[in-house]
This record gives sequence, structure tokens and C-alpha cells, in this order.
Amino acid sequence: KNGVVIVGAGHAGVQASASLREEGYDGPVVLIGDENELPYHKPPLSKTFIKDAEAKPQPLRGEAFYTGSAIDFRPGIRIDRIDPAGRRLEIAGGGALAFDRLILATGSRPRLLPLPGADLPGVLSLRSIADARLIRELSAQSDDIVILGGGFIGLEIAATLRAAGRKVTVVEAVDRLLGRAVAPVVASHVRQRLETIGVRILTGTTIARLEGENGHVCAAITSTGERLPARMIIVGIGAVPNIELAQAAGLTVANGVRVDQQMRTSAPDILAIGDAASYRHWSTGGDVRLESVQNATDQARLAARTITGHVDSYSAVPWFWSDIGDMKLQMVGLTSGGDSHVVLGDLAENKFSIYHYAGSRLLGIESVNRPGDHMLGRKMLGAGFSPTPQTVAEGPDGLKAALA
Ligand code: FAD
Repeated sequence: KNGVVIVGAGHAGVQASASLREEGYDGPVVLIGDENELPYHKPPLSKTFIKDAEAKPQPLRGEAFYTGSAIDFRPGIRIDRIDPAGRRLEIAGGGALAFDRLILATGSRPRLLPLPGADLPGVLSLRSIADARLIRELSAQSDDIVILGGGFIGLEIAATLRAAGRKVTVVEAVDRLLGRAVAPVVASHVRQRLETIGVRILTGTTIARLEGENGHVCAAITSTGERLPARMIIVGIGAVPNIELAQAAGLTVANGVRVDQQMRTSAPDILAIGDAASYRHWSTGGDVRLESVQNATDQARLAARTITGHVDSYSAVPWFWSDIGDMKLQMVGLTSGGDSHVVLGDLAENKFSIYHYAGSRLLGIESVNRPGDHMLGRKMLGAGFSPTPQTVAEGPDGLKAALA
């Protein structure tokens, strides 16, 4: 018996290994990761790790988990090729591994910047703990830092490095922050608070090229011709899924590795989960590929259920958080396609929630420093309960009463 092999030891892969045991799977479980680390939490990297010289990686599970659960964790190994028919994996540098079932949990990687100068030393992106260590080291020597991209990771880094005393400029191509991930009112609130702490934000601006000096980046030149001096440039313009293994093996790929409601790819006995997987979303009917800890761990649990013979359908309520300076942003549901919204709380107090509706259906909630609204939202959406906008306006007590 070759058992289950999991490729990718990030949030999804580690959860899958744990869930297989929780579901009673007693065959071999091999967890392969190409990093030389005990698998760790990624969210703290942009929020705290890069500004604290003493910070250590936070393991997803202690070492005892792997031995105690008989998970054969193999770090520092990269899989190069999948042979779906032969149920075999090829290891980079030589060697092979057989599987009965395979879970692809390869995650995603930062999108590269297609610009002159993008390969200069000092131009970095953040995905792994190795990236975070580099950023931490270089930021300690850099007064001026330019961040390309006003998405969650870029803004988290901006706030973190600003709090560490750096001069930070964020350059965002479109005319607002956070893409379409949050409502305009949230995006402009975030912008205003970041500007208040001294982060410079240029929207509707692109970078034409990067300049180097003595073999190191020294400035970014904007589309308007402004020269932004910087010893460090962080590129945070989104992520692309690691689908190459699946693609080369002939699996169906559509944005991510395509999976059905049980996380099965187009190849028998191969599943895919996490940032790398795309699927038809149960609530919107649209095709999605979500990049969140929740999505990675819930899909991992479901994949383990599928492998142990259950036929559940993926129906977890999506949620996400981001800490940007003094703002804890929490999102639940998928809010695109909304046509009206209700605001609860007070922007001036930096505590408010936006309830998004499509007609009379609650699609989701975005909260800033209102964790109670978020938790209640998860309950409501999980129960398929849509409060009326009038009930929402009554506040949490009214909502709790209506839900009960
Ligand atoms: P990953 O965790 O990326 O794991 C994939 C692993 O597979 C990696 O270790 C990769 O190196 C390895 N791998 C890839 N290919 C191979 C191969 N061929 N052979 C062997 N190994 C391979 N989400 C939130 O919900 N909230 C947050 O606040 C938040 N903050 C974040 C901050 C940062 C800086 C980053 C980078 C991400 C953040 N995320 C956040 C997103 C979240 O971390 C991801 O959605 C999550 O890690 C996805 O899990 P995954 O297992 O699919 O991918």
C-alpha cells in the first residue's frame, strides 16, 4: 500500500495530513514540501515577522504532531513530475515515489513584475519565510521603501514597515486600494488611516522602470516621471497558482487546478486543494480560486473526507482577515454582485461593518474592528439566514435575536 501523498506542506497540505488521521485513515501519509522548514503560518509574515528581529516562525503544528500521527513529513523535496496513470511522482534531483491517492496542495506564488530592473537585488516579494527573512534584513538598512501593489499583502507590509519607522510609498495602478476585494468605503477608509500614519499612497500610478546603482535597486520611476528613491522595492501585485505540475500531467486547469465539489481533479485519485485549486462556488455559481487560510483548511478537511469514502460537497462559508496597522479587517461571504449595503458602526471610530445585499439576500459582511459582527455573520451565512436590512440596522442584539 502506497497510501496518500500530499505535495505541498503549507496550510492546506498540513491540514489534509491531520484530517486524514482524524477521519480514521490508517494507511501511509507522506507530506512533501520544498521548503526546508517545519510548516508555518503565513499570515504573520506580513503583519509582525518582518519588523521584529527576534520573531520566529510560528509552526502550524509542533514536530510531535508529525511523529505522533505517523505523518511522514519530508521537507526540502521538490516534485518535478506526476505520472497519473502510473501513480508515480518524480522527485527533482532523482528518485520517485508511488501513491494510491495524491493531494496537490502546491499553493501559489507572487506574480512577477514584467519591468526593466525587476531582477535587481533589492526587488523582493513575500510568500515564504525565506522571503520574509530577506525583507526583514534589508528593511533594517533601508530608509525608503516602495511597495508595488495596494492589495492586502502590500498594505499590511506598508503599515508594518511604517510602524518600524520606515518611509513607505505604495504605488497602485488602479484608482483605489484593495482591488475589488472590499467596498469603496472600506478602501478609502484604509487609505485615509494609512496616510494618517505617514504612508504615501499613489493610486492610478504605475512604475515605468526600476533603477539600479552598484548592482542594487535604488529607485522606482513612476509613469508620471517621478523618481521614488528606494533601497528596497516589494512587489505585491497578486499571486499565481502553482499549476504547472498538474498541467504537465494533463489535468484540467482553469485558473487553478480544476476540482469538483469533492476536491477531485480530472484525474482519478488526484485531488487538489487550497490556493492552487479552482472550482465552481456553491453559493454564487461562479468559478473561483480563493487565497485564504479558511479555504485551504476547509478544502483539506473535505479532501480527507473524500479519500475516506464520504461524498460531502464543499459548502464552507468563505472568510478572510487582514490586519493593516490598527485595522482588523474581516470579510465573510462573497460580496461581488451586491446591489445595496447597510453600514453599522462608525467610520470615525475606526469600527464599522458593511452588510452587502443582492436584493433581499445577504451576500457577506466586511468588518473593520468589529469582530462580533464577523462571527455573527459566519453563523448567519452558515445557516443560510438573511436578516432584513432593518434588522441589521438594529445592531448585534437585534441580529442575535433574529438568528435564535
Ligand atoms: P501554501 O501555504 O503556499 O503552501 C504550498 C506549499 O507547497 C509551499 O510550501 C510551496 O513551497 C510548496 N510547493 C509548491 N510546489 C511544490 C512542489 N512541486 N514540490 C514540493 N512542494 C511544493 N490568508 C488569510 O486568510 N488571512 C491572512 O491574513 C493572510 N495573510 C497572508 C500573508 C502572507 C504574507 C501570505 C503569503 C499569505 C497570506 N494569506 C492569508 C494567504 C494564505 O497564507 C494562503 O491562502 C494559504 O497559505 C494557502 O495555503 P496552501 O497550502 O494552498 O498554499
